[in-house]
Amino acid sequence: MDSAKTSVKLWFDGNVMPVDEATIPVTWISPRMASAVFDGIRAYWNADRKQLYVFRLEDHMARFSQARHVLKMECAWTDEELTEATLEILRINGFQEDAYVAPTAFFGVDTAAGGTPTLGKDAHITITPRRWPSSLGGDIAIECAVSSWVRIPDHVMPPRVKCIANYHNYRLATLDAWRQGCDHFFSAIMLNSRGKVAEGAMASLFLIRDGRVIVPSVSSDILESITRATVMELCAGALGLEVVEREVDRTELYIADELFLCGTGSEMIPVRSIDEYTVGDGNPGPITRQIVDLYEKVVRGTDDRYGEWRTPV
Ligand code: PMP
Repeated sequence: MDSAKTSVKLWFDGNVMPVDEATIPVTWISPRMASAVFDGIRAYWNADRKQLYVFRLEDHMARFSQARHVLKMECAWTDEELTEATLEILRINGFQEDAYVAPTAFFGVDTAAGGTPTLGKDAHITITPRRWPSSLGGDIAIECAVSSWVRIPDHVMPPRVKCIANYHNYRLATLDAWRQGCDHFFSAIMLNSRGKVAEGAMASLFLIRDGRVIVPSVSSDILESITRATVMELCAGALGLEVVEREVDRTELYIADELFLCGTGSEMIPVRSIDEYTVGDGNPGPITRQIVDLYEKVVRGTDDRYGEWRTPV
């Protein structure tokens, strides 16, 4: 058994327990019909200050709340209580290293007793932390491919929130990118049902063209990514770059000077090629490098700016 996992404790409806003891019946509606939403939050260890900082905790909690609102899942806790519970579970685990924490809401309706999905009022909540070292500072650039699987449109499923059922869409796209010869977990790029670029599989996509930072707009059937918002603010603010939010065509990916993916889990991943078109000279470009460097300093708090984004544990 994985001792790194067994020693971790999570928060389950107000109780703290070892991860391995947190179980639910297989007959509950959540595993049967994917009735759950979640969020994913990173915490970065600042070794000089001996301090763990949760990155954009309030913003993640607000998005978690929006996901429950859109999916009509009410729970007994306020955003403030869930924020405090997140900090509490990180404190209890005493991580002195980079970590990730996922609040999840799901229904406990028992399908074996004839329960059906309704306007569930009593969502259960887990807040599950784990150790997850950052890969920022590495020098990788990945091969990507546009998948023939289309990003779920907003009139079919809500792409802008983290509903777990949405993740089958990414899974299929990722398998498709692998079938096309790519091998990275974040290799798939998805178009939306209007044929415009949406995002990566579980990551947002940015292009650099002629010194301008371009990102698909929030109505492109994308997740309203917090890293995307962070990068836009860092580029427009600290780096003084022009940021354009608009529809993006597939062929723009083939002529972009630089391309990178980003997200809480994926962090920053430069793209080396897309559909076998080399991006730039195949290495992370100068603007991408600048953004990655600043992002790493800001999340870890080795740059003092944007302190409002870092909550000390
Ligand atoms: N798109 C999707 C579909 C994702 O799952 C993620 C990861 N949460 C992202 C984009 C990046 O979002 P964020 O920056 O909020 O982690």
